[in-house]
Amino acid sequence: MHTKSVAELATDLGSKKISSVELTQHFLKRIQQHDNDLNSFITVCEERALADAKAADEMRQQGKAGPLTGIPMAQKDIFCTKGIKTTCASKILSNFVAPYDATVVERCQQAGLVMLGKTNMDEFAMGSTNENSYYGAVKNPWDQTCVTGGSSGGSAAAVAAGLTPLATGTDTGGSIRQPSALCNLTGIKPTYGRVSRYGMIAYASSLDQGGPMGRSAHDIALLLQTMAGFDPKDSTSIEREVPDYPATLEAKLDGLRIGLPKEYFATGLDANVANVIDQCAKNLEKLGAKLLEIALPTTASHVPTYYVIAPAEASSNLSRYDGARYGMRCEDPKNLEDMYKRSRGEGFGAEVKRRIMVGTYALSAGYYDAYYLKAQKIRRLICDDFNNAFKEVDVILGPTYPTTAFKIGEKLQDPVSLYLADIYTIAVNLAGLPALSMPAGFNKGLPIGAQLIGNYFTEAQLLNVAHQYQQATDWHHKLAEGY
Ligand code: GLN
Repeated sequence: MHTKSVAELATDLGSKKISSVELTQHFLKRIQQHDNDLNSFITVCEERALADAKAADEMRQQGKAGPLTGIPMAQKDIFCTKGIKTTCASKILSNFVAPYDATVVERCQQAGLVMLGKTNMDEFAMGSTNENSYYGAVKNPWDQTCVTGGSSGGSAAAVAAGLTPLATGTDTGGSIRQPSALCNLTGIKPTYGRVSRYGMIAYASSLDQGGPMGRSAHDIALLLQTMAGFDPKDSTSIEREVPDYPATLEAKLDGLRIGLPKEYFATGLDANVANVIDQCAKNLEKLGAKLLEIALPTTASHVPTYYVIAPAEASSNLSRYDGARYGMRCEDPKNLEDMYKRSRGEGFGAEVKRRIMVGTYALSAGYYDAYYLKAQKIRRLICDDFNNAFKEVDVILGPTYPTTAFKIGEKLQDPVSLYLADIYTIAVNLAGLPALSMPAGFNKGLPIGAQLIGNYFTEAQLLNVAHQYQQATDWHHKLAEGY
């Protein structure tokens, strides 16, 4: 059951071969069997899931079922869920129960999707390995001694191990795409403004964007259809029609111009990953695409620019966790200042504190112009790079991550080396563009992802390219042993 595609599961539900309650029980059982090892869920909400499933079966009985009614899924623990704990993988929110649902959660519920639980992540989505969680690191189903990638690592491990057919993620600088790459999944970070951020706990508001993760382009096209669309509750949400994503998956790729940024294949990229991306490009060429070399001259500035802007926004967003308004408060505060200091000191993990300090520094009087303002100017040049590239090509192809998954703990003492590995994903967020990662091969049994970057609002095209590639290859069908 858990190896079936979402479309196949939907067909089984439609023909009443199986009920949503049975399907949900199946996945809950798998979570029980495997999640002690993987640590992919922070909260499993069995009761809620079974109630959702019952409601979905009733919806179907009444002839009101949509394409995803009755399909189980998991929500990243960054999306607020009414009545169910939302921790953002932080001690400071470990007892937080939101009084409302995030728009994404609400839409999933309206579509009849079943929420199995809330997935593990890096604390406040800061990280790229899922080792920065108050609830512990998530293990990669392909090799449990290795990282999943982050920050949506719980969602990635859960889908890769067949504990849920679909999950949501969020991507501020690669957090949907990197764990997708390292766990052999397909994940898309939509254009900024395409998916509502209402009720999605903020990390860096001008970069954050939610999106779907699953095994194939077809599966995530179905979930994106549910998630996307204008939301008056999010002032950065864009009022623009949502295309029918599944409807355009079958278009042929003849004449599609694919750009390969020469900077992405320079030093720092593992040779085995480079070979896989090369092979992926050749396969796309066989499907009718034309390959063109392009330049993204600002590439060397992507990491430093992001690591000024993201912490700056984070330091401001996280000032709300003060022991008074949300989540935990330290014991017996002596006075107001003591409460602030100890609640934050005890509630935040090391990486979050590092970001708050960097961000506060970059925004402080005297340094603002030198760091924050400068970074914003470079951000404009980065957008210009992509705008120029999209005059010549339709999509850009490159690696998602410079290596395959590495050992848990291996890079924990060297945060800068982790920041540098964000090189292929973060510019997309600085520019607000959509990008997708898809399974493209393996090295020593570990998955490698290829990244497709598109122009604004070309999610349908990215999904189409990935789907055509997946019709011609079977990387995305490969499952980790033991699952
Ligand atoms: N690795 C990046 C960071 O730590 C991106 C994380 C994300 O996309 N949420 O900020």
